[in-house]
Amino acid sequence: MLLSLVVPFYNEEDSAEHLFARVVPVLSSLKDLDFEVICVDDGSRDGTLAKLQLLRRRYGKLKIIELSRNFGKEAALTAGLDEANGDIIIPFDADLQDPPDVIPQLVDKWRQGYDVVLAQRVDRETDTFAKRKTAAMFYRAHNALAPQHIPENVGDFRLFTREVLEALKQLPERQRFMKGLFAWVGFKSAIVEYVREPRFAGKTKFSGWKLWNFALEGFTSFSTLPLRVWSYVGSSVAAVAVLYGLFLVIRTLIYGNPVPGYASLASIILFLGGVQLIGIGVLGEYLGRVYFETKHRPIYLVRRRYDPVEVLADQTYPLPEGAEAKARWQVGRARAAT
Ligand code: UDP
Ligand code: MG
Repeated sequence: MLLSLVVPFYNEEDSAEHLFARVVPVLSSLKDLDFEVICVDDGSRDGTLAKLQLLRRRYGKLKIIELSRNFGKEAALTAGLDEANGDIIIPFDADLQDPPDVIPQLVDKWRQGYDVVLAQRVDRETDTFAKRKTAAMFYRAHNALAPQHIPENVGDFRLFTREVLEALKQLPERQRFMKGLFAWVGFKSAIVEYVREPRFAGKTKFSGWKLWNFALEGFTSFSTLPLRVWSYVGSSVAAVAVLYGLFLVIRTLIYGNPVPGYASLASIILFLGGVQLIGIGVLGEYLGRVYFETKHRPIYLVRRRYDPVEVLADQTYPLPEGAEAKARWQVGRARAAT
């Protein structure tokens, strides 16, 4: 049996070495399970690719997919999944926020017969207050709108079988909201809890604006409720308008017409104008996505592939040189523990 670890890299030269130093011993310790690591270089502008080349020579079992530019994490992950040969597959973050020690637990659950084993964060202490709150709001809103439930605080870190991967590959959409796609395919799943660590080095690639768009992607990929709701809003407003019209007619019949009401008229028009623009905006969100889907552009483009090589040098797994890197790692761990 083969395990594929799929890791997207975008400007992660400081993490790469440490990632392998942590992950490879864990993977080699798994019984009756061979492994391969698929590294996707998502158009990094730093020395990530060179680092990966070096690591490939040191560790063997490492395949590098170099994309032609930065396509974003979801596309990079898709590229990696397309190249994975494993019977079981685990997507993994390059920044070591997903602790490698959880991998054996995921594998244990899989041996018990589950197709998907989700790694769920028990606390999000390493995230900022704002990120935690907005994430919670997203899950609540998404699960209220979409028919498929996304489990809360579950990222891309999970284990799944070949069958699940083949099912995923049948979903042809270009805009890939992975969490939603995983929820959609279903299969028998279990949950393993873990504590998310702080980033080993570098900064997160997801700004507030990117996350907001990511959330929109989630809503629009799996629910048309935001589109359909406008028929109901429109009908209700029209019904209220008819009642109000009747009221005006009757009042005019009884009291005559003193021509009041400029202020109410202006505010009603402004309100309805605003409501209409929101409706058009929502239409636009969907239409824009339909537009991109109909182009049938590939999700990613590969510049080069680097296949695994024979390991020439020693087979040991030394930690990265440099006391500084080590110290930073320990500080990070200490912070996670408190
Ligand atoms: N990533 C990527 N392409 C991008 C942005 C991110 O491949 O355009 C990778 C990144 O290198 C990391 C993973 O996706 O391995 C998660 O990114 P990050 O840690 O920035 O996200 P966060 O953990 O803050 O959600
Ligand atoms: Mg991260």
